Amino acid sequence: MTLRFFSDRKRPVHMGPFPLELLERGPMPDLSAVPPMPGLDFRRPHAPASIVNAMAEYQAMMDAIRDGLVNRARAEVPSDPLERANHLKAFGYFSDASMVGIGPVPPEALLPAPRRNPDIDRLAHDLRTRQTKTLASGIDLIMADLKESMEAPPSTIEGHRHAIVFLYEMPRDPRPGEKGCDWLEDAQAHRACLRASETAVVLANYIRLLGWDAKAHTVTSSDVDLNRLAVAAGLCTVENGALHAPWLGPRFGLAALTTDFELAHDAPLRPWSEQPAWRVKGPSWWLGTRSRRSALNGDPFARRDFADGPHPFETLKRVEEPTTYIDEARIPRVPKRTDMFARAQFGDMGRAVQEGAKGGHYARKAAPSMAQRRVLGAFVLLQDGEPNAQGPRPADPERNALNIKAASYFLGIDAVGISRCPEWAWYSHDAAGEPIDPPHDQAISMIVDQGYETMEGASGDDWISVAQSMRAYLRFSLLGGVIAKQIRNLGYSAKAHTVLDGEVLQPPLLLLSGLGEVSRIGEVILNPFLGPRLKSGVVTTDMPLAHDKPVDFGLQAFCEACNKCARECPSGAITAGPKLMFNGYEIWKSDSQKCATYRITTEGGAMCGRCMKTCPWNLEGLFAERPFRWLAMNVPRAAPWLARLDDAVGKGGLNPVKKWWWDIELHEDGAYRPARQPVNARDLQKDLELRYEDQTLAVYPANLAPPPWPYPFPMDREAGIEAYQKLVTAAEYRARIAAGDE
Ligand code: SF4
Repeated sequence: MTLRFFSDRKRPVHMGPFPLELLERGPMPDLSAVPPMPGLDFRRPHAPASIVNAMAEYQAMMDAIRDGLVNRARAEVPSDPLERANHLKAFGYFSDASMVGIGPVPPEALLPAPRRNPDIDRLAHDLRTRQTKTLASGIDLIMADLKESMEAPPSTIEGHRHAIVFLYEMPRDPRPGEKGCDWLEDAQAHRACLRASETAVVLANYIRLLGWDAKAHTVTSSDVDLNRLAVAAGLCTVENGALHAPWLGPRFGLAALTTDFELAHDAPLRPWSEQPAWRVKGPSWWLGTRSRRSALNGDPFARRDFADGPHPFETLKRVEEPTTYIDEARIPRVPKRTDMFARAQFGDMGRAVQEGAKGGHYARKAAPSMAQRRVLGAFVLLQDGEPNAQGPRPADPERNALNIKAASYFLGIDAVGISRCPEWAWYSHDAAGEPIDPPHDQAISMIVDQGYETMEGASGDDWISVAQSMRAYLRFSLLGGVIAKQIRNLGYSAKAHTVLDGEVLQPPLLLLSGLGEVSRIGEVILNPFLGPRLKSGVVTTDMPLAHDKPVDFGLQAFCEACNKCARECPSGAITAGPKLMFNGYEIWKSDSQKCATYRITTEGGAMCGRCMKTCPWNLEGLFAERPFRWLAMNVPRAAPWLARLDDAVGKGGLNPVKKWWWDIELHEDGAYRPARQPVNARDLQKDLELRYEDQTLAVYPANLAPPPWPYPFPMDREAGIEAYQKLVTAAEYRARIAAGDE
């Protein structure tokens, strides 16, 4: 965690985390003086343990889909070039770019011949010969899309007059002998390339979905010289013959997209030496009064080891067992078919829900998430594979765990925990109905922040909600996938369980690995530093690993005293009552049917995460919030008061300054046009008195689960309501077990 004194709640998202508006700008410099973009090789046969080798397939996959078909049905979006530029910059910042600039595509920036990543051909060959094990829905379409992309003749960028350049800063280099850094040597440029490529590929896809042409360019596959584009787009200058970014110097990586979508341009920067020092390096920069980034909060790892992560997990109380009871011996394994989104697709929840779920319509109906989904689908093909038979198979569990953590944090995962992966955490049957024989007994759980800033401007269930989830799922697919590949390169088996194809139940693994506690939201594990504003992913493996312990940061008392998420839930799915035993777990069991139905069918937005948005633990990360966190963790009696205070100061409300997305949805002709229904723009319902006695909740425990096979099995809501009424508290459950009444 870095130090921040001032909120940036009045700063629009498109302005970004650095105060770029303070910089002096000038005329276009001589671009021929810009040092040419270097090459980047992702193959290191001489260093087989380098993490760079594990990134190669992922980089090649993104390079393979940097171009694609343009939607013939053009979107109805604002025509003002500045509004468009601000919108796309904000999308870049939402995707965690450090800086985004927009400029022309000058002739000096065109490469004499396009650069093509040689790994694309290796990957294409691999995918043709490899047995694809994934059961993700729509995999045939994904394969067809990839085949077309890989075999298509190279396209030109003729008519592309605008370039959006994404700059990703590098964290510090690993220190000599630093724990956990065995695989990280000389990987900075590759990491930055990978992260920047993700954003460029997603945004190019987004513009094509809107109906304009766009193509992404990365260091490994490009039609343009990224260095020259960055100078032309007002992001970089040349200082002493080297490319230089304001405040960052030479420590960054670039990717870009070019397009014919009309955009306003940024003017080129004056050299850093000519920038007014009092403005760009003065007290405002030091304290961060104007922007999120300041001189004091650059790299979260400046004073921490990579293996320890950006958040002070070492300050948390570790306990032997999770703070909620798990009756491991009696947990029934259930088939993948019980997943609510699978049930929706098979029509178990009725026709309207099935229509909303068919072909992932809930993601397709919003253009940003549809843009993310193509990349997410492509990564599914890489998430599993055979281990390298010649791998060195490092056997020290402590060292392996440190290396996994440091590499995950270095790549950009927000929190990592390691635990056993017991059999009961695996589904009983896969998506095709085949029994699962758990292949791995170790779990690496990872969480990705959904991002405070965009959440601030959102109601939680409007037109950006689904993209907030997809962004985090995509990040795990990429970075968790790289970690799984790294483990396989070292000779062990490993699989990344992603949102599109996973075979483990993630919440219990997050609990075992100390990444959070059970919250009132239900199946959402709440992390003390990110709150519930997260998505998770798990890598399972047979690599020997040292384990973390569960944590206790007082959340059970807090959620007992607070029911804000239950009050704010638009579908009434979150219980205002006590924790109860469900399938062997003690949780605040929510009504997943109500939740999934609302998320899939809401007409004023796409999906929902309102519980995360409104929770008092959804914090901006300011110094001033530390007393809240300390009190919440250490003084359980303060919980009711803190929960009321959170309401009183209006936390969880809408901040229109942070709204950057367009309220457009997919229409019948395939075009994205203004949403048909009023947008879900809810504010807090402080006066609503939610009473447990008034709630009617349904649950579907193992005895009501569908058979594992992929055919319809309508839900019996009456039986579900009856099942909820039969749930008992953990104390009663234990008493019954003790009395021999199972
Ligand atoms: Fe717990 Fe309150 Fe957050 Fe709900 S809103 S998860 S009850 S702290």
